[in-house]
Amino acid sequence: MHKKELYLFKIACRVCIEQNFLLNEFKQPKTKMQNDEKPFINKNFAPEFGDMRAADFRRAGYEMIDWIADYFERLEDLPVLSQNQPNDLKTALPKAAPEKGEDFTAIFNDVENLILPAVTNWNHPNFHGLFSTSTSGAGIFGEMLAATFDMKAMLWRTSPASTELEETVLDWLRKMMNLDAGFKGIIYDTASVSTLHAIAAAREGLDLRIRENGMSGRADLPLLRVYTSEQSHSSVEKAVILLGLGQKGLRKIPTNERFEMDAQKLREAIEEDKRNGFLPFCVVATVGTTSTTSIDPIAEIVPVCEENAMWLHVDAAYAGSAAIVPELQSCLKGCEGADSVVTNPHKWMFTPFDLSVLYCRHLDLLKQAFSLVPEYLKTNETVTNQMDYGIQLGRRFRALKLWFVIRYFGQSGLIGRIREHCRLAKLLAAWIESDENWELLAPVPFALVCFRACPQAVENLEELNEKIMNAINASGKAYISHTKLDGKFTLRVSIGSLRVEERHIEKLWNLLNENLSLAKSES
Ligand code: PLP
Repeated sequence: MHKKELYLFKIACRVCIEQNFLLNEFKQPKTKMQNDEKPFINKNFAPEFGDMRAADFRRAGYEMIDWIADYFERLEDLPVLSQNQPNDLKTALPKAAPEKGEDFTAIFNDVENLILPAVTNWNHPNFHGLFSTSTSGAGIFGEMLAATFDMKAMLWRTSPASTELEETVLDWLRKMMNLDAGFKGIIYDTASVSTLHAIAAAREGLDLRIRENGMSGRADLPLLRVYTSEQSHSSVEKAVILLGLGQKGLRKIPTNERFEMDAQKLREAIEEDKRNGFLPFCVVATVGTTSTTSIDPIAEIVPVCEENAMWLHVDAAYAGSAAIVPELQSCLKGCEGADSVVTNPHKWMFTPFDLSVLYCRHLDLLKQAFSLVPEYLKTNETVTNQMDYGIQLGRRFRALKLWFVIRYFGQSGLIGRIREHCRLAKLLAAWIESDENWELLAPVPFALVCFRACPQAVENLEELNEKIMNAINASGKAYISHTKLDGKFTLRVSIGSLRVEERHIEKLWNLLNENLSLAKSES
């Protein structure tokens, strides 16, 4: 046989053997992995040098995907909140790293037996606490590939795919949200970091040479002030602290009875501060506040910012996703006059954590605030180098998972799912409103319902509602969280899981009523 033919023949034989092995090994879908199951004994250890062999990787990969598919199938049988006590996992884990590499199957078994019990299942359809967020199959595959390429997206040269896909997919999302073309997007990990960068860019725009000279010890600097509502997320205050403005550098504006920022009070606060020598430079308004998803009146806030030459940043971390739904698009009305907007696809667009998008009209200012290029990072291409737009040098290839998600579901698929969550929230709100034992405590513009039990015979409603919440959460059947509205202990039910159906909301409603009866009988 010719040398080349022999080589091809050998490869063909190897492929046949491998395929056959794989078929035999994996044709039966696996369910729960057993402790004593060791299908790849002696084959699942790391080789002496280099990474996992391709065949081992393939075998473990099939097993891993089986496990994940199985996890999603049995999700409803798992407790929503981990039933572990503090330190349970730590106690079960070895105190030091293994001297020698371990059998991959053993590692995997520990996921089932040790890690899973310590997992709070955010993907559970009855996870209604905080904001209900969930991953998707397409997003998981995007994440897997990003880990595979493992590129550090700093320079275009080190990451053309990440740089250009990010620009493209963020432009898709911008159009889906109906934001104008003046906005250019950049991906960070979280909304907290997006907001921090927006305020840093706003400060850079003041031309006070803070980048060069800092802020401390400067008699020539007035006190800089940021404005946000009493209902805004704590990330705004943290950003102000981190930027060296101090908590004194943040003024919280009162909200109306719908928990929306009062634009007139904002105007008055700015005027008062100016009279007292402060330099107001930025307003952070929220579309979809954390406690109630209220919407600050952006269109009324824009002229206040314009009159005072202030930057307007809109925190739409949660509700930005809703703007892709035609009938909800008006929630971003007024953003034509905003300087930056943050939205988190990891919150309500089925993209695995983490992925936050900052849309900004002044990327030049962001670059001016953050770009610092040492010799070893200098290149001569005329391109976007994303390290110039933030505190991080290396960035993960996050755009890939969002690209997978948008392509897999399509715009209509995403719209349909978000619309359904809003329908389910309205349904729950209607049940609450028509039952004299319960009352709604805030409007429901999106898919979050704020309410409390208020049966006539009970005096201490605070205690009663806390009891109901704790009992539901301890049951493992659902997870709800709380907030305080007008001093009242308020239950919060967020509906946003990719896997939620009407039957899950019925189950929750039954749980609420059963626990109300129990709590009443005990009080
Ligand atoms: N802004 C709002 C309105 C939020 O609700 C949240 C979190 O829930 C954040 C910001 C912070 O989000 P992240 O965890 O991405 O920093």
